[in-house]
Amino acid sequence: MIKVADASELGHHIVVQGGTFYNNAVLRSFEKIADCHAIRPDIAGIMGAFGAALIARERYVECEGTTMLSIDEIQRLEYSTSMAKCGLCTNNCRLTINKFSGNRRFITGNRCERGIGKEKDRTPPNLFDYKLKRYFDYEPLSPQEARRGTIGFPGF
Ligand code: SF4
Repeated sequence: MIKVADASELGHHIVVQGGTFYNNAVLRSFEKIADCHAIRPDIAGIMGAFGAALIARERYVECEGTTMLSIDEIQRLEYSTSMAKCGLCTNNCRLTINKFSGNRRFITGNRCERGIGKEKDRTPPNLFDYKLKRYFDYEPLSPQEARRGTIGFPGF
């Protein structure tokens, strides 16, 4: 969904992404509404994954081994899927339970962690502490690297 009050705010060079834009009608409708020519990369639907892969490559740290399955293990992989209702509260979430060889399972459809057998953590997070750490625990870039200048926080 694109929420723009004024399509002219989008600028002149518009790149669209997301699987929805594989649909020519959606692309053309967008161009008509925004009165623009939009660029749709041929990987529009996987740009998020592509970006994640680039970040992973950039931040990759040498480590021992990998948890990825080998191609042989993938070919031997067996799984079964079943449905169940959580029933621990009135939401009655409909769970999809995927069971894999090696006694592993993956559950989806749960709206909270109780649905996957974990207890709800009732300790409220300290959001002030969290935000403080998010803001100030980063190593600042050196002035040479900080091409966009310095950002100040009023009140701190
Ligand atoms: S998963 Fe959570 S929200 Fe859903 S029914 Fe179970 S307890 Fe309720």
